[in-house]
Amino acid sequence: MNTIQQNVGQILSEIPANVKVVAAAKSRTSAEVREVIEAGITIIGENYLQESQKIITEIGTKANWHFIGHIQKNKVKYIVPLFDMVETVDTIELAAIIDKISVRHNKTMNVLIEINSARESQKYGVMPENAKLLIEKICTLENIKIQGLMTMGPFLDDPEGLRIYFRQTKALFEEFKNLKLPNVEMRYLSMGMSDSYLIAIEEGANMVRIGTKIFGPRSY
Ligand SMILES: *Cc1c(COP(=O)(O)O)cnc(C)c1O
Repeated sequence: MNTIQQNVGQILSEIPANVKVVAAAKSRTSAEVREVIEAGITIIGENYLQESQKIITEIGTKANWHFIGHIQKNKVKYIVPLFDMVETVDTIELAAIIDKISVRHNKTMNVLIEINSARESQKYGVMPENAKLLIEKICTLENIKIQGLMTMGPFLDDPEGLRIYFRQTKALFEEFKNLKLPNVEMRYLSMGMSDSYLIAIEEGANMVRIGTKIFGPRSY
């Protein structure tokens, strides 16, 4: 099996320089995360607050920390001070709590709006047709800065099937960029995982979230 360093080297060599890699670190140890940072990755994605608290405290500002899991509202007070970006904002209620806690910390929180691009009833994310209204509401919150969109897409055996959802999310990204709303700067389009990041980049992603292909197989 390849080392983390080899995996990161291979990924960084095959993607355009403007694409940011978020190492999706759920279930990984501080030592593994340190290895990823030493190999040249600057952004670490965490799904679970409890798991990330220890790692972020240990590693601190050597990396940028993105929350990429679903957020329970009662966890926001712990997430805001720890993280540099929340990629999974999908309701005005969640955004309002993030804003309130951010005020308390004298911080402006960078967020991405999560799009439920395949319109799956059991999935998180705002429906594509409701995203514009959501962004128009969130952009009135002073301590939140919307920096782009994120999508997961459905679980499919063939990642080629994700292409259409990536393409539709990129179209929304361009539409929202042209709205020129206050506190909205459409900079990052976060889509693509280990089996789909090359397809996502072809469809306009400039941020990819990669776990297994960096760290190897995981238990959960
Ligand atoms: C785990 C995870 C990833 C990475 O998944 P891999 O298939 O291991 O690359 C990306 N995004 C989110 C939100 C995740 O939870």
